[in-house]
Amino acid sequence: MEVIFDQVVKRFGTFTAVHGLDLAIAPGEFVALLGPSGCGKTTTLRMLAGLETLTEGTIRVGPKTVNDLPPGKRDIAMVFQSYALYPHMTVAGNIAYPLKKRGVPAAERAAKVKETAAILQLEPLLDRKPKQLSGGQQQRVALGRALVRDPQIFLLDEPLSNLDAKLRAHMRAELIELHRRLGKTMVYVTHDQLEAMTMAQRIAVMSGGHLQQFDAPETVYNRPANRFVAEFIGTPSMNLLDGMVEMADGPVFKAAGLTVPLGPAAPQGPAALGVRPEHVRLSDDGAPATIRLVEPTGHETIVMLETEGGARLTARMPANLGLAMGTLVAITLDPEGLHLFAADDDGRRIDHHPTPAAP
Ligand code: ATP
Repeated sequence: MEVIFDQVVKRFGTFTAVHGLDLAIAPGEFVALLGPSGCGKTTTLRMLAGLETLTEGTIRVGPKTVNDLPPGKRDIAMVFQSYALYPHMTVAGNIAYPLKKRGVPAAERAAKVKETAAILQLEPLLDRKPKQLSGGQQQRVALGRALVRDPQIFLLDEPLSNLDAKLRAHMRAELIELHRRLGKTMVYVTHDQLEAMTMAQRIAVMSGGHLQQFDAPETVYNRPANRFVAEFIGTPSMNLLDGMVEMADGPVFKAAGLTVPLGPAAPQGPAALGVRPEHVRLSDDGAPATIRLVEPTGHETIVMLETEGGARLTARMPANLGLAMGTLVAITLDPEGLHLFAADDDGRRIDHHPTPAAP
């Protein structure tokens, strides 16, 4: 079922938590709402669930405007960070509960519980109480309770944040598989870019109640729409330098003693240059820089560099270079890894390579 947010605004008193949100989620799509704490992602999800009213705008699910529909009538199931299982009920009882509330007869309930438990591999645990389960198993029961209702849309609010790193990785894979099998629309709230990047088909990046970009993970990473997205996505973060675009043979970016050739479409004037750590390279004919810090991570090394003009850059290097702190090296920035952003508050992306003409 498709989900359309049309100019949705949410105010709490005089504070605006969500500003004129437009978002079109395709039927069966897995979308992540991603952003730092307080950016409005949970409020957005809660409006879709019917747990929060809209101040302005409309939300449509399929052909229906749902603004005034109570949560129970929306054909939506929500899974929370706190699993909110009933401690006195067994796993089977917890999964069956939404059906019991709806008055589904016992035999049908039992069949549905069995089917759901099979999908989530919970069959051996059906007679246990929640406190006899691991965190991952509890989260699976919470998913089961959503699944058993067979909703059109699943909403998930940071469902993995209580799990340890290994279990999170495992549950990410399970959720991807579950989405593939069910083919239902899923909207997933997280502040964890790894979750969003690995699971979602498209990511809605939010900040300060504004949608910053809504694109496939690789587009968000490779063509961030503005400076906020550029810095927020990627670990270590993209390097950003404030400077000037000037004309030499072609446009060049100048900052802190660095002169970096840009694509021919770069406009002159103040701008910010972005370059990811993997696009900072050692090369004999590059600009001089001193190694300030070396952080080996095992398969690679993160290196902090300082240029002669005092700019600090993070670089991602192979593990075996034997780099030492204090060494003077020479660096270049990969031409294809250069992102240019406007110098104003919006910091929107500037395409400095002309777009190829349509065939
Ligand atoms: P987190 O990851 O911390 O949950 P979030 O991006 O999900 O953050 P929201 O919970 O949507 O953020 O909150 C967005 C903003 O709205 C925050 O500044 C929050 O303090 C505010 N807010 C949320 N609910 C209310 C409320 N009931 N009354 C007043 N302000 C609220």
